Parts: sequence; C-alpha cells; structure tokens
Amino acid sequence: MRSSPLKYAIYVPTNKPIFIDTARNGRECNCICAECGKVVDAIQGERNEKHFRHSVETDCKGGLETILHLRAKQIIVENNQIELPGVGLNYTGAISEEPFLKVIPDVTVIANGEKVFFEIALTNPKKKIEKEFYIANKLKSVEIHLEGLDYDIPQDELKRIVLINVNRKEIIFWTETSKGDGLLSMKISRYLVPIALLAIIYKLFQSWSRRR
Ligand SMILES: [Zn+2]
Repeated sequence: MRSSPLKYAIYVPTNKPIFIDTARNGRECNCICAECGKVVDAIQGERNEKHFRHSVETDCKGGLETILHLRAKQIIVENNQIELPGVGLNYTGAISEEPFLKVIPDVTVIANGEKVFFEIALTNPKKKIEKEFYIANKLKSVEIHLEGLDYDIPQDELKRIVLINVNRKEIIFWTETSKGDGLLSMKISRYLVPIALLAIIYKLFQSWSRRR
C-alpha cells in the first residue's frame, strides 16, 4: 500500500521539521525521516508531486504524526504570545519536552512568573496521566487538540490554530489568581470584601444596639 507523499522531514543541521518546498533537491536536502531516522532525499522533479523519499526501501510511513506534533511544539517555542479561552497569554522561556517531576510536558512556558504547561493531543486518550497530574498539583495547563487535522496542514494554518484560535484549546487547570478565569473571580472578590465588611459592621452594630 502506498502512503501519502511525505511533505516534511527533519533537517539535520537544525534538528527541526522542514517543508519539502524549502529543502534543497535530492540528497543535498540533508534530511532524515522523523520516524525512523534514516536518510531521505528531496524529490522535486517536475513529473511528481514534490516529496521526501527514504533513500532505501522501507515500510516506514515517515512519521507524519510525529512531524505534526513537532511542528506544533516548535510554533509555541518560537513565539511569545498565545490566545487561550478567555485570555491572551504573553510568555517567555518556552521549551519543549523538559521533564517536570513525573511528566514531560510537550511545551513549558513562563507567564507572569509562573510555569504554564502545554500538551498537544493528536490521538485521543494519550494525555490522561499528564492531565491528572496537572489537576492534582494545581498547575496551569492547557491542552491543544489537533486531532483530525491533515498531517500536511500548511504552516500558516497550523500557526493560526496553535497561537490564535481558541476553539481547539482546553484549559486543563488554571488557578484563581491568574488571568483568564481568574479575571472573573477577581472582579467578584472586589465586591465581596466590602460587602463582607459591611455585613460584619452591621452585625456588630446590631448586637451593640441590642445590649443597650
Ligand atoms: Zn522513515
């Protein structure tokens, strides 16, 4: 069975995914397969659709899912702003696959002096352990759902989904003091404190006047 033509491979000098159109032709592309790590050639002749091809015959499909996952992580790492449901997050120090206690978050960023963890889901039940860990430890965390996307989705489109769109993002855990859901509770607490104070003063006044 023929698999779909491989549009992305790993460019060895940067160890990052590269799109076929931006690679040099043939072995010159200096690329390996994201799945098996073997050398691939860029086939950019006029006859065929441009693609990468394993230099030796193989059953390997080229790690399409791996590449999409890498590309999504890379987009977060190379930027410093991401839209989440209800909040825009400015961040620094984004790093992928950095172990944290017992999990390896897909991407970790620092926002408002706190770590925020991102998980990128491509197949459904995979992230259960991570999600439970974040919730149990009250760690700010977000899951980005890329299930069902075309593995060859153009970079601009993927960028928009990862950084700007919010409909594929799910807050796993978010603390009250933070922006986002925090914003609402901050607004409420601003009124709650004076109301509580007034109530206490009223009660004191009541008991004081009763004693007279
Ligand atoms: Zn391969």
